[in-house]
Amino acid sequence: MDMSTPKLIDVETKIGPSIYEGIVMLNRLSFAKISTITVLTALSLSAQAVDFNCPLTDCSNISAPYNQERKPSHNGIDFAVPVGSEVFAPADGVIKIVSQSHSAGQYIVMSHKNSYETLYLHLQNSLVEVGQKVKSGQVIAKTGATGIVTGPVLHWEVRKNNQPQEPSFAH
Ligand SMILES: [Zn+2]
Repeated sequence: MDMSTPKLIDVETKIGPSIYEGIVMLNRLSFAKISTITVLTALSLSAQAVDFNCPLTDCSNISAPYNQERKPSHNGIDFAVPVGSEVFAPADGVIKIVSQSHSAGQYIVMSHKNSYETLYLHLQNSLVEVGQKVKSGQVIAKTGATGIVTGPVLHWEVRKNNQPQEPSFAH
């Protein structure tokens, strides 16, 4: 038990007090010496969440929800918003892609901690560059109606390890 104490302090410094508390609790619950594998498991479970904020001033006007049953699946949320609405970084991140395609129109991909990415499609224009670090709440783009759309919309997508996740956000 004593041998693992310095490692736990390192973990706390790097990842945060809540995970450290979880490991301490695990430690208390286990009567045997906590194994490295157990620590790693606890870390991967505790560290996976990223708290995203709504990427718009108002995220209430959803024109199409995330839907894996739809064919083809809808891997994000569509927000119906006027062209030129500000898009805010929903968490700290780094701009990975600024590009355009026939279907997505002008789009941005942002990287976040713990292998999360967020995607912003059908933009009017981007206000960031590839490699730029952005803070939560920073304006990164203006919404538009580019690509294949039926009207002005922001398609917002969340991926973890390149797999679509159901987007959730705090208002
Ligand atoms: Zn969509």
